[in-house]
Amino acid sequence: MASVASTSSLAVPFLDLAPVNSAVKDEVLAAASALIDRNEFGSGAAVQAFEDEFAAYCESAHAVGLASGLDALRLALLALGIGRGDEVIVPANTFVATFEAVSQTAARPVVVDVSEDDDNIDVAAAEAAVTRRTRAILPVHLYGQMADVVALEALASARGLTLVEDACQAHGARRDGIRAGSAGRAAAFSFYPAKNLGAMGDAGALVTDDLELAERVRALREHGQRAKYRHDFEGFTSRLDALQAAVLSAKLPHLDRWNANRQEAASTYLAELDGLGDLRMPPVARGSTPVWHLFVVRTESRAQLQEFLSRRGIQTGRHYPEPPHLSPAYRWLGHGVGAFPVAEAVSREGLSLPLFPGMTEEHLVTVIQAIKEFFARG
Ligand SMILES: *Cc1c(COP(=O)(O)O)cnc(C)c1O
Repeated sequence: MASVASTSSLAVPFLDLAPVNSAVKDEVLAAASALIDRNEFGSGAAVQAFEDEFAAYCESAHAVGLASGLDALRLALLALGIGRGDEVIVPANTFVATFEAVSQTAARPVVVDVSEDDDNIDVAAAEAAVTRRTRAILPVHLYGQMADVVALEALASARGLTLVEDACQAHGARRDGIRAGSAGRAAAFSFYPAKNLGAMGDAGALVTDDLELAERVRALREHGQRAKYRHDFEGFTSRLDALQAAVLSAKLPHLDRWNANRQEAASTYLAELDGLGDLRMPPVARGSTPVWHLFVVRTESRAQLQEFLSRRGIQTGRHYPEPPHLSPAYRWLGHGVGAFPVAEAVSREGLSLPLFPGMTEEHLVTVIQAIKEFFARG
């Protein structure tokens, strides 16, 4: 690392989308212009092209473009026939959308704790939570690291359950040779602008090898129609629009490079920060290649560290300050403080450091130096 004295006043954003978006701006503008000339806004060639490219990227047979990641999860569960009276097992440490997808089918999210080994769903806890009402397990590949899909697939097949991946933070991740999106019966991706692959608005996709499931979700996204004005079942408006598909097609060829960029930044953090005070590095499981959607460290001095960094112009985040089971929205599940101690500890102690493609060496040095100073002061 270079000398840092001169860079200590550099402001570091938590996330800057400018490097990513400027790389594709001209291509996006040209594609948008062509779409406007063709009056192509809904399902058409642009959407189809992105679906094919993204399915291939995920090493899966089919992708169905949708309006959001939440819709991808929700429509996958609905297409699997999950609903009232059913239970779906979810991890306690996640973005609230994982819970919403389950409860919006009228099924019950059955919450289990996460593991210290990877911050993801604890497989033994998931197994212990299976009842005769359980229909599916919904692991989240949190912060860009896949859950233990080999163990989860074994559990699902032994108990006759369906595995659905919440891959909204893990575009391009791999674990034990398995690509995110190709492990379960279906996987949901979000292309919210801040995700590893982000649109310039909201978008999502369902990925699956199961043609029948893909066709059902294709119908659900468009009012339950398989043919125009023929409504075989009740559906929704949840199309991926052509402009967002064009943005995503322009960005997809860059994704591996952007993920490699995140991995380099993460390696630098791991090499420089490990061992400082009580600071705990994000756990990486053996055989796992995370894509570092977030880089979450843990310390009992989380609030003080965050404040210290903030005073130096270094922005950090918390993912998530309130675990869904403790939020007012899910009070009805009946879980109090202490129900899921690992997830609650991550929520209390976790601090997400700046990390994004195009982050400069200066940015990294500034963050690292400030954290070293914080722990040197004791
Ligand atoms: C972003 C995200 C979602 C939902 O995605 P939207 O596109 O915002 O609906 C779901 N699950 C996880 C873990 C996410 O990070």
